[in-house]
Amino acid sequence: MAEFPTTARVVIIGGGAVGASALYHLGKAGWTDCLLLEKNELTAGSTWHAAGNVPTFSSSWSIMNMQRYSAGLYRGLGAKVDYPMNYHVTGSVRLGHSKERLQEFRRVAGMGRYQGMDLDILGPDEIRGRYPFLETHDLTGALYDPYDGDIDPAQLTQALAKGARMLGCRIERFCPVTGVRREGGEWVVSTPKGDVRCEYVVNAAGYYAREVGKMFGRDLPMMVMSHQYMLFDTIPELESWSADVGHKLPLLRDVDSSYYLRQEKNGFNLGPYEGNCRAHWATPDDPFPQDFSFQLFPDDLERLEWHIADAMARVPLLEKAALTKVINGPIPYTPDGNPLIGPMPGVPNAFEACVFTFGICQAGGAGKVLAEWVTQGATEWDMWSCDPRRFTGFEDEAYCVAKGMEVYGHEYAIQFPHHTWPEGRGKKLSAVHDRVAAHGAQFGAYNGWERALWYARAGDDVSEAAQQTWDRAGPWFGAVREECLAVRDACGILDLPGFSRFVVSGAGVAEWLGRQITGKVPSVGRLGLAYFADDKGRIVTEMSVARLAEDRVLLITAATAQVHDREWLVAHLEDGCTLIDETDQWSTQILTGPLSREVLAAVSDADLGKGWLTLQTAAIAGREVRLMRVSFAGELGWEIHSKVADTAAVWDAVLVAGGPLGLRAFGMFALNSLRIEKGYRAWKGDLSTDYTVLQGGLERFVDWAKPAFRGKAALAAEKQAGVAKRFCTLVVEAGECDPPYMSTIWQDGVVVGETTSGYYGHRVGACIALGMLRADLNVPGVAVEVEVFGVRCAAVVQADAPLWDAKNERIRA
Ligand SMILES: Cc1cc2nc3c(=O)[nH]c(=O)nc-3n(C[C@H](O)[C@H](O)[C@H](O)COP(=O)(O)OP(=O)(O)OC[C@H]3O[C@@H](n4cnc5c(N)ncnc54)[C@H](O)[C@@H]3O)c2cc1C
Repeated sequence: MAEFPTTARVVIIGGGAVGASALYHLGKAGWTDCLLLEKNELTAGSTWHAAGNVPTFSSSWSIMNMQRYSAGLYRGLGAKVDYPMNYHVTGSVRLGHSKERLQEFRRVAGMGRYQGMDLDILGPDEIRGRYPFLETHDLTGALYDPYDGDIDPAQLTQALAKGARMLGCRIERFCPVTGVRREGGEWVVSTPKGDVRCEYVVNAAGYYAREVGKMFGRDLPMMVMSHQYMLFDTIPELESWSADVGHKLPLLRDVDSSYYLRQEKNGFNLGPYEGNCRAHWATPDDPFPQDFSFQLFPDDLERLEWHIADAMARVPLLEKAALTKVINGPIPYTPDGNPLIGPMPGVPNAFEACVFTFGICQAGGAGKVLAEWVTQGATEWDMWSCDPRRFTGFEDEAYCVAKGMEVYGHEYAIQFPHHTWPEGRGKKLSAVHDRVAAHGAQFGAYNGWERALWYARAGDDVSEAAQQTWDRAGPWFGAVREECLAVRDACGILDLPGFSRFVVSGAGVAEWLGRQITGKVPSVGRLGLAYFADDKGRIVTEMSVARLAEDRVLLITAATAQVHDREWLVAHLEDGCTLIDETDQWSTQILTGPLSREVLAAVSDADLGKGWLTLQTAAIAGREVRLMRVSFAGELGWEIHSKVADTAAVWDAVLVAGGPLGLRAFGMFALNSLRIEKGYRAWKGDLSTDYTVLQGGLERFVDWAKPAFRGKAALAAEKQAGVAKRFCTLVVEAGECDPPYMSTIWQDGVVVGETTSGYYGHRVGACIALGMLRADLNVPGVAVEVEVFGVRCAAVVQADAPLWDAKNERIRA
């Protein structure tokens, strides 16, 4: 027997489908000195009992990427590693019961096409051609996905493990990790068989990930649900049909009724995501077990009765089958239902690839992504949707349980652009939350912070049901228009709690920052927008820089970017510079519009003649504030930054002074409309690592004269070679809906780009899309089409300047 390995470059903790795939992909990347430690036998966690469905469908671009990659990998894996597997590519039929569902299908079909997949929309009359045993009278259509299928999860894991071993990686089974410690810049991973020294560690412990996380001092945002599927016996009619046609039925997903139904041999497998669902190991009387290997929960069919009856009505054949077996197993959830793949926040050389809800269909792609994180420190596709740093630490147990249950109970729900989910709300409240609420604010959560989305007027429908639409003209539309026009004609105030802010100090801070960002560091008393690129020149993040002093800068960034950006800064901090996170101490209000100077003049002692992009300390209502002369809304305006304890007094004073001048509170929907008219990009929509700084159209924020900054060589090479696609602004004749993220841009029947955001601009009276377009077509006046929910809408390329106030005269007024 081989000796227990005492060193490895990477140790992976957990041998489910995901851990095995991570090992395989590290091996494929040439990192073969890697070791997987599994406390029991491979697959002992969630993997052994998974149903093994392998869909490619996702309304998230990055998750679709991962699943598409998995399906492609699984097709060839068995032959590649000589481990035959049961992988049935049966296709799937996803049923739609509403107009909105069909719109979702059309959108996903468009994204799928862009990823090289041919997904097909079926009319109600065509569905039975794919799935003969179906009642279709109440359906609006369906999506046919020819790439969907099912795989044996244990065989998949063993094949990945075999492939990894063939590449030279090692696996130790029955070897639980009991602790980890840092020693001499390395990790020491303890097991009953001995210690292993390694450079990197990966937590791939599935539903045990929180326990493993604790070893690193980390509290993972996760919880565990019980999920069931039922196996039904052979149905002779199905058996003879299958024999006749020579294949199985496609997998059926009735997403509006929330279940899937799959042909299993010549019977069925029915798997619901029920609304009256059950969390496990979430209360003191149900403690987390030390070991649950190869165990299941007791059957609980009562919860599923509605779905069983519904499935029998949909596919009457099911009624003829006897139920033979129920599988009820643990399935982990993060608060948004996406897994954790990427750097472990706050812990050096440690990564996570865990808390997978769909870990079989995502394992392949997740292994690729994880291996890229470990070996390159960056991923090919922007993977923010799964980045552990998207959670920032406020997600306590109660929040995780409430959100996990909400996601599970709505697993197939449509993600409408104006909809807010009700669970886990009110975690972080602005100092003026009650005042904002009293104005009629309808709130949405941003990194836990409640912010006004829009202000309802008397009679506006504020129900959750009214948010369930893709149409732009929901109940908010009229109010948002009024808010935008008030900002245009008078002034508006937006309460914006939760901006992330870091003060970096040190004698060489300006030189240090100059090496981190692509552009110039503002001089003392001035502000600027700064872009941080990676070594490939791709957009890592955007921050506002306020130069507080020669040796001190304030960096302000999105609420959700708090951990991501702080870690990036800390990782690149140099000797002599220190960083303090002041996020919790301050709050922000945006005061903007042509009359904002008058409002401020009435309440503050500030020098309001100071120009655009200046910074000053002033007093409002006797409280010291920082006034920054910028406006994301694109009008004359100031950001008022006040200490949280002073925020209410500032708000009150500004509202009293502004009332007679027509000051109006506005919300995030209006801000989105206002910013898109200015072509201001939003982080992780328009700005992501999917694009370089030059593709993002941000060359004016690149200071080529600087001797060095991160990404300079790559950007210079790209500039020399010519930028293939570039940021564009389009005016779109979009009908009733604005183009969502990743709507394809067409010309002459060819896809020539994609949108990264779309919204209606009330000042310009048009639907606007920002996106990426082939450089040769990125010429003002060029006609293209944008595919919006399956309909190609005429669009015109705009000049590389804001649509509203192209010369920025209003901002500089
Ligand atoms: C009923 C049911 C049906 C499902 N159907 C599907 C489906 O059709 N399609 C799909 O994509 N997903 C499905 N899932 C989800 C899927 O099972 C999981 O997402 C997937 O198995 C997760 O794989 P993993 O490798 O992340 O975790 P796991 O399979 O849970 O593996 C984690 C491993 O870590 C090991 N471990 C834990 N702690 C330690 C330690 N301290 N030291 C060493 N090892 C440790 C565990 O023993 C375990 O083997 C289903 C889940 C359930 C419950």
